[in-house]
Amino acid sequence: MKIERLVTGELQSNCYIVWDENSLESIIIDPGAESEKIGRLIDDKRLTVKYIVCTHGHFDHIGAVSEVKKKTGAKVVINKKDIEIYMHAGEFAASWGFNIKQPAEPDLLVADGAELLAGNLHFRVLTTPGHSPGGICLHIQGVLFTGDTIFAGSVGRSDLYGGDIEDLKKSFLRLISLPPDTEIMPGHGGHTTVKKERILNFFVHEI
Ligand SMILES: [Zn+2]
Repeated sequence: MKIERLVTGELQSNCYIVWDENSLESIIIDPGAESEKIGRLIDDKRLTVKYIVCTHGHFDHIGAVSEVKKKTGAKVVINKKDIEIYMHAGEFAASWGFNIKQPAEPDLLVADGAELLAGNLHFRVLTTPGHSPGGICLHIQGVLFTGDTIFAGSVGRSDLYGGDIEDLKKSFLRLISLPPDTEIMPGHGGHTTVKKERILNFFVHEI
C-alpha cells in the first residue's frame, strides 16, 4: 500500500491518494481543492481511481470532487447523513467567501461497516458523527483516515450545521479504542497515532 498526502487549498485540507502497488488501483480521500495537483499525481503514478471518498460534506474537503471525477470517472462516495451538507457545499463556501465547483449527487452512499476495494486494498468505513452528522473514517491495515473527526492534539469543531458534541465524544472514544499503534491521517495537519492521542489530545479531558 502506498499513501501520498497532498495539502490543498487555502484551508490546507489533506487529500490522500492511496493505492495498491500491483494493480495501481487507488482511492482518493477528500479532494478539497487544486484538482490539477491531484491529477498530476494520478498521471505520474499511472493510477486507476476506483473511488473518491468524502469523509464529510464540508466544502474544503470536496471542492475538487467535480474535476477529479471528470478526469477519472471514479465513483463518489459519502455517508447518506452528510448528503444535505454536500449538496449545499457551494452555497456554504460562498457564505464564507470561498468559491468551489458544486459537485453533482454522489454515486454511492455508505454506512458503518461498508467495504471499499481498490486492487488488494480493503477499506472499512467507520461512521463517526459529531463534526458533521455523516462524518466517516476509513480504516485499512492499521491506518485510519479521519477527516475532521480527530486531529493531532485536537478534534473537529462541533458548532457547525449538524454538528453534535455528544456524538463527537462517542466517535472520539471509538477511535481511541482502536489498537494503539494505529496511524491517524487527519483531514488537516500532520499524522499521529492512537497511542499519542490517548495521552496528548485535549479532548480526552472533556469526556
Ligand atoms: Zn469539516
